[in-house]
Amino acid sequence: MDQTPPAPAASLAAREVLATPAEKITGVGRRWAVLLARLGIHTAADLLFHFPRDYEDLSDERLIAELAEERLQRVRGTVVEVGTASSGFGKTRVSILVRDASGDLRATWFNQPFMRKKFRAGQHLLLTAKPKQRGLMWEMMHPQITWLAEEEAQSTGRQLLPIYPLTDGISQYHMRRMVELAVTQYAGVPEEVFCPRLLGQYKLVPLAEAIPSIHLPDDQAALDRARRRFIFQELFVLQLAIAVRRGQQQARNAPQLVATAKIDARIRRLLPFELTASQQEAIAEVSADMAQDRPMNRLLQGDVGSGKTIVALYAMLVAVAHGRQAALMAPTEILARQHADTLGSLLQASRVRYGVLAGSTAKRERETMLAELAAGKLDVVLGTQAMIQDRVRFKNLGLVVIDEQHKFGVRQRAALRQEDHWPHYLVMTATPIPRTVAMTLFGDLDVSTLRQLPSGRQSVNTYLVEADAEQRWWAFVRDRLREGRQAYVVAPLVDESTTLTAPSVAAAYEQLTNGELEAFRMGLLHGRMAAGEKQQVMDDFRAGEIQVLVSTSVIEVGVDVPNASVMTVAGAERFGIAALHQLRGRIARGTHAPFCGVLVGEAGETGRERLAAFVASSDGFELAELDFQIRGPGDLFGTQQHGLPPLRIANLQRDRQLLAEARRAAQALVDADPGLSHPDHAKLRRQMLTRYGKALELGDVG
Ligand code: ADP
Ligand code: MG
Repeated sequence: MDQTPPAPAASLAAREVLATPAEKITGVGRRWAVLLARLGIHTAADLLFHFPRDYEDLSDERLIAELAEERLQRVRGTVVEVGTASSGFGKTRVSILVRDASGDLRATWFNQPFMRKKFRAGQHLLLTAKPKQRGLMWEMMHPQITWLAEEEAQSTGRQLLPIYPLTDGISQYHMRRMVELAVTQYAGVPEEVFCPRLLGQYKLVPLAEAIPSIHLPDDQAALDRARRRFIFQELFVLQLAIAVRRGQQQARNAPQLVATAKIDARIRRLLPFELTASQQEAIAEVSADMAQDRPMNRLLQGDVGSGKTIVALYAMLVAVAHGRQAALMAPTEILARQHADTLGSLLQASRVRYGVLAGSTAKRERETMLAELAAGKLDVVLGTQAMIQDRVRFKNLGLVVIDEQHKFGVRQRAALRQEDHWPHYLVMTATPIPRTVAMTLFGDLDVSTLRQLPSGRQSVNTYLVEADAEQRWWAFVRDRLREGRQAYVVAPLVDESTTLTAPSVAAAYEQLTNGELEAFRMGLLHGRMAAGEKQQVMDDFRAGEIQVLVSTSVIEVGVDVPNASVMTVAGAERFGIAALHQLRGRIARGTHAPFCGVLVGEAGETGRERLAAFVASSDGFELAELDFQIRGPGDLFGTQQHGLPPLRIANLQRDRQLLAEARRAAQALVDADPGLSHPDHAKLRRQMLTRYGKALELGDVG
């Protein structure tokens, strides 16, 4: 018997009405519906929730006759004349005459002859600039222009004009009109998602008010209220999903793997160095989690070189001590093999059995390993995503470690698991996660942080190398090589170019072997090489056979060769700051003073600024925040990578206060009603499941 109460008739009717196809909306019609579909707008509801991306502030709009000097103002008028004049010395001047009911205004552009083509007599414009009076005529130099439709030639008295995301064939005007049609006909239909109690508690304006206000705000205050409501809603629903997921995870069973004093002592005897205080702390946190009968879900973050691996290996050995299997997944095969080497050198005489499962593992070997894992004959497997693709079956999986979490998606984490119980999870990242992102995308994880580098570790001396100083830089690199050090040269993988300043890695290699570094043994490494080839190059570099490794950022993650202490980065403006910091971390591993030269090359103004910030700071957390501010979370954790649908109106950086509030609110609601089964919460629950049910594998909530 179906136990769910039938949905109230009203809500069914509302849903049907909102599903009205765009072409059936009075005033829209088939022709426009086809274009709207390109923006993913298919129904009345889609149009209602197609939010403006910005607004034009018309509160300072005036009649030409009422302009005042030296203040930013707007006028609305019609083009009556377009002209070009050349003012000698090859300079051009485009000027147009614009008229409104009160008078004329001249708008002028110097040395932008192409502007002339943009204007015709009869066009309606909105011009924004600080005007000047010249004789009897008002003039605007290089004003900002918005082209208006015939219907917008007269001011509507609105202070804020919405600006929508568009597609070819739809103008702002037409989009405004279609949204307005939808708002007039349907704005009252969608049912409120929040119950009255939540609306009151978080001071949210009701949906029926917010929809018209976000599209056609009466004033800035009304717009702010509407935006706050939708941003809060978006963040709240996301945080609900995360809180629910967290609750589900805590309800799961996992094996209790206690690091007893005996086990702890046995593992510590294997470690080749004193742990840092940070590492001790992280190990204590991990051990406490693994001792519980519900799965650990911990993120271990720490700057490059802070020594995360050893924390992971400790946890893996605890699992093995309990007769459980442990799996480590790394983003590249090089890294997986390197972790295997580290593990091997720790274990030496011990009986722990481990293997590497990666793309290049031969079929026979792979099949043997899969069989051994299923039979419990292998204790530890280290590998790449190949592990997931192979759907590895374990006899007794106790722990999964994921290295460089930001390279994997949320969902991939869940792919390694056991039928009857869940393994403990430890995920690691060297890209420190800005607090706001941690709260959002990784809101279901506990966090340990290694704030300290192992002692004796030096921060990298980093320089911006201008074009005229490049020769001196290479001389410096040669000196270090002659002292016995090794060096990296990092360049982006692009094919077209030939100079070191906009390099392809192959061209850089070519140029250096025949030029600045011709006296040294060089190697080339990039992602398009076969796995075996890559491994060979890495082995040769590690053994010192190769002195200079020219590489793409495939070495970004985790590669560890202590004798390499010099790095040159070409085409640096193509890398994010966080990525550059990771790269530079490759040379801060040994006891030799590390040096990093960033060839500035053709970096533009903003590129240069970013690079300067990178040179000035050696704090990965600070740089991650900076990167986040400049590029937003999308780039740091590409949306495809984290696998969540993109946010439509909220911005994690800008709205971080609201995010914190939404997070507290969501947690409070889930604490009170874990399954969101109260009728008051039914709509929130449905929205949460529609949006995040699949991405976060929420299953049947409640
Ligand atoms: P990351 O956090 O970037 O993954 P690793 O775990 O690769 O860093 O460690 C970086 C280097 O530091 C390795 O060579 C490792 O052996 C060394 N290391 C880690 N912890 C310590 C320590 N407590 N004392 C000395 N060296 C350490
Ligand atoms: Mg690492």
